[in-house]
Amino acid sequence: MKHILIVEDSPPTGTMIKKRLEKTGKYTVTWLTSMQETEKLLATEGNEAFFAALLDFNLPDATKGEIINLVVAKNIPVIVFTAFVSEEVRQTVWSHKVVDYVLKEDVLSLEYILSLLDRLKKNGETQILVTDRDEEKLGKIACLLRVHRYDVLTADSGRETLKILAANPKIRLVIAASEVNDMDGLTLIQKIRRNYGKEDLAIMGMVYAGDHITAARFLKYGANHCLVRQTFLPEEFYCMVRLLIENIEHIQQLRSTSLIDFLTGLHNRRYFFITGEKLFASARRQTITLVCAMLDIDFFKKVNDQFGHEAGDRVLQHVANILRNRLRKTDIVARIGGEEFCILAVNMDTTSVHRIFDELRRQIEQSVVVLDDGMGEVKITVSIGIATHLGNSLDHMLKKSDFHLYEAKEGGRNMIVSDL
Ligand code: GH3
Ligand code: MG
Ligand code: MG
Repeated sequence: MKHILIVEDSPPTGTMIKKRLEKTGKYTVTWLTSMQETEKLLATEGNEAFFAALLDFNLPDATKGEIINLVVAKNIPVIVFTAFVSEEVRQTVWSHKVVDYVLKEDVLSLEYILSLLDRLKKNGETQILVTDRDEEKLGKIACLLRVHRYDVLTADSGRETLKILAANPKIRLVIAASEVNDMDGLTLIQKIRRNYGKEDLAIMGMVYAGDHITAARFLKYGANHCLVRQTFLPEEFYCMVRLLIENIEHIQQLRSTSLIDFLTGLHNRRYFFITGEKLFASARRQTITLVCAMLDIDFFKKVNDQFGHEAGDRVLQHVANILRNRLRKTDIVARIGGEEFCILAVNMDTTSVHRIFDELRRQIEQSVVVLDDGMGEVKITVSIGIATHLGNSLDHMLKKSDFHLYEAKEGGRNMIVSDL
């Protein structure tokens, strides 16, 4: 749970925000109503006490946003509420390095605040690389990003940029100036795009006012967006950074769900072959050893027929959990068909193969799947076919373990058969 400080003198507004935040189950709230109270509290609390603060711009004892400075000085991320936004209010708010400001009367503001808080939480794990040969401008951008708690890295040359990118695969955005020390921004963007596609990394170009040609070239050669460095508004900057980052996150999310079996949370057939081929190549180079095991639930059709399809699904999840817990993180455990699982075990000692898979078989035999709503209990067994010889291809290895699985079924089920 994260702790949020609210300073708001209007009881209805304060109550509403406090309730909404607490309802998420993610936040606890301290609600104060004046600058004086806040000063007293912050004098005794450490800087880490609050994850963020929501502050009313106009308090009875601080009518011009004076409270903002007090809280920002404690290094607490600040979101300001204001009843109206004049240019003067905007200037005051941004001069204090706040996260954002929102309009009080706007009913959508609360949801916006919640999404901002969620974002702040994620930003700590989001890396952004800023490049510029101008130290002052670089510092300014880095500072803006740090207010939003992004993990910021900086570089003043193209060489350094590429080095930092290679060493930090989690960087999601590069903010590139039109000049770095050893090359122009355009060359840098081209070099970056040679190794990093738009689905892994976003690039935001910073161009000079009126330099439309550079902006157009940046976009043509791989930037996702450009801002004019002298005149961009903080609102514009933050929204665009967030948009670019969230775009990458969505792609990554889609990519990972396309490799996961929805029912069991194990990897799916597609992942098995993509990653399996890489492991197989390493095994051929003798940098690792591989054991391939095909596991199939015995008489699974009967479970579906007797207890229903939902019970069958529960059994599949049950088997998946046992596999997940028993095998190593470095092994591939995938559901590759209806009630068929395939395991690629990395560096499993040949002398232990029989013991490990027979223990696995026995654990499943001895376990019980308790169905929901008193629908009874299901007991199952599995047959396992194991191939330890590499052969010519992963496909070949899979066929061999499938053949041994067939032998196990023929031999009476609930047993393991291998090529050892
Ligand atoms: P054997 O011991 O020879 O393996 O017999 P079996 O009944 O386990 O094998 P069979 O291949 O005849 O039947 C597999 C059944 O698995 C048929 C199919 O309806 C069921 N099945 C496949 N995918 C799912 C699933 O996602 N959920 C459920 N509940 N059942 C599934
Ligand atoms: Mg079966
Ligand atoms: Mg089957």
